[in-house]
Amino acid sequence: MEFECVRVAVNIRPLITSELLLGCTDCISVVPGEPQVQIGSHSFTYDYVYGNAGPPSSGIYHDCVAPLVDALFHGYNATVLAYGQTGSGKTYTMGTNYNGEGSSSGIIPMVLETIFNRVKATDESTEFLIRVSFIEIFKEEVFDLLDPNSSKGEAKVAAPARVPIQIRESVNGGITLAGVTEVDVKTKEEMASYLSSGSLSRATGSTNMNSQSSRSHAIFTITMEQKRGDDILCAKLHLVDLAGSERVKRTGADGLRLKEGIHINKGLLALGNVISALGDEKKRKEGGHVPYRDSKLTRLLQDSLGGNSKTVMIACVSPADTNAEETLNTLKYANRAR
Ligand code: ADP
Ligand code: MG
Repeated sequence: MEFECVRVAVNIRPLITSELLLGCTDCISVVPGEPQVQIGSHSFTYDYVYGNAGPPSSGIYHDCVAPLVDALFHGYNATVLAYGQTGSGKTYTMGTNYNGEGSSSGIIPMVLETIFNRVKATDESTEFLIRVSFIEIFKEEVFDLLDPNSSKGEAKVAAPARVPIQIRESVNGGITLAGVTEVDVKTKEEMASYLSSGSLSRATGSTNMNSQSSRSHAIFTITMEQKRGDDILCAKLHLVDLAGSERVKRTGADGLRLKEGIHINKGLLALGNVISALGDEKKRKEGGHVPYRDSKLTRLLQDSLGGNSKTVMIACVSPADTNAEETLNTLKYANRAR
């Protein structure tokens, strides 16, 4: 079994209008021809760097995600993680808000496109069963975003309290979610419609939509079963739009807000520790401890991070000088993951 380290890419989005209007300037530069970024006196090297006149690349999907989709067809679990502060481009890069209309350069729409084209091109001796689920982790609880019983479209009726779902581990180490909605999909459009309805229920699940969705991890999972005669191959691909990595401001935060912030940090903190343990050759050789159990996020992804699964983390950053501190935090986190 070949071990594959976590690959780390940094994606620098352009300055956006609101930043330009505030007179923000670029505070991050890319070393020409190298996957290396500089900010102030710091310099970091990654597997890939995109944006901001980065090195020539064939694109984030081609470099980072296509190999994972290929692994899925070969029966390996895989995970794509988008990390970064709120506003750094995680949702844009992942394409989590794709509604199936028009084209989108986001990762998820391209994954859907690739999967169904490949299924179509495969001869009929292979039968494909493709299912999706969509959940979010908020305050260390897992919620089903595709739950048909949640009161979608009944704005006048108070939404019933959402019931968290439990994470189960099977004897062979496989992770499942008890009672999570898993829908069979046969086309790209169908899959996109679940992505879009799930994104909607994520946004309406709270009174303050922006704050909740930036403080929860959203995980869209594609499970693929291939049957060839008596042979069954099953694997899953997790596409994760992580909670905003920004530090909770202590001033002005009420008690509740602070508690939520601490919970989210728990997931991101545990993820950083897990990925860093996976990359630690010495630990690995000694069969060292990987702290999957420290958060719901890492527990849920346990069978799809490390081992013989493939993982890529895309660290998203804003180039604006006003975000320099958070950008540096993100670059350090991503550097540790490598
Ligand atoms: P996050 O999900 O990390 O909070 P978003 O994906 O919502 O961030 O991005 C914040 C803003 O930046 C949005 O207005 C989005 O359209 C814009 N943006 C992000 N990435 C890019 C990009 N590569 N090119 C242009 N605009 C971008
Ligand atoms: Mg977002």
